[in-house]
Amino acid sequence: MGLLEGKRALITGVANERSIAYGIAKAFKREGAELAFSYATPKLEKRVKEIARSLGSELVFKCDVTLDEDIEALAEGLKKSWGSLDVLVHSIAFAPKEEFKGGVIDTSREGFKVAMEVSVYSLIALARALLPLMEGRKGSIITLSYYGAEKVVPHYNVMGIAKAALESTVRYLAYDLAKHGHRVNAISAGPVKTLAAYSITGFHLLMEHTSKVNPFRRPITIDEVGDAAVFLASELSRAVTGEVIHVDNGYHIMGVFDREEEIKKEVFGKDG
Ligand code: NAP
Repeated sequence: MGLLEGKRALITGVANERSIAYGIAKAFKREGAELAFSYATPKLEKRVKEIARSLGSELVFKCDVTLDEDIEALAEGLKKSWGSLDVLVHSIAFAPKEEFKGGVIDTSREGFKVAMEVSVYSLIALARALLPLMEGRKGSIITLSYYGAEKVVPHYNVMGIAKAALESTVRYLAYDLAKHGHRVNAISAGPVKTLAAYSITGFHLLMEHTSKVNPFRRPITIDEVGDAAVFLASELSRAVTGEVIHVDNGYHIMGVFDREEEIKKEVFGKDG
């Protein structure tokens, strides 16, 4: 029996098969969950419907998280189709491309507002709208963060600030929703080549560096994020809430990156 047998999960943020949310959806399907999906703009409808169908789901809703009417329609649609919900995967973030070009000092008022609204407020808005569907279900809400919330990652700029706010929101929501029996957690994923990631100036260099210096010396995969999300969605994590779990091959534990080759040369001479 799968770890998520009998659970109903809404997956937001699938843009294509590279999306982190797609890795999560595949893992949830493998573990027996029923899936529903939402997408932001009409141009994604066909693609997301195909992906949903490939994972055995016909439940696909348009939901631009900046629009209250879309969020209400999503909650209403899920109520009609399922009547209940166990898991919300919030895999949504956005900031205008210009915000990643310079430094944080260049952040525009509008860029700041957009980044915070789409990437942070949307978690609160979705959680509130879907709360009635989770009543009595011991729900699990999972969002996606990044190390730029904790430390400076050049060019990540306003999105780092938004992710810090998102991680704080996870803690506050975890406190609020505990009285309903629900949990709220984040996965801080290592860099993955996705559409959203390509907006970040120099992302390929960031990815190359991170993959080379983490303790396992390899990039993470969306399937690895999916497996961590299964844990957070399942009863196995019933005492875990308000947490940020790093799925980054241990990159975040490093204080100084490995200088083994340089040390060998300096201490033992050229041949090591
Ligand atoms: P992705 O495939 O591009 O997914 C981002 C999703 O956000 C897209 O489906 C996008 O829809 C959606 N979105 C943007 N604005 C929206 C809005 N107003 N309403 C509803 N949905 C909206 O990229 P991803 O990397 O998988 O990103 C998913 C999450 O993982 C994000 O929170 C991201 O910050 C986080 N994350 C990513 C990485 C990484 O390296 N890729 C690392 C750590 C954390 P459209 O395509 O229609 O705009």
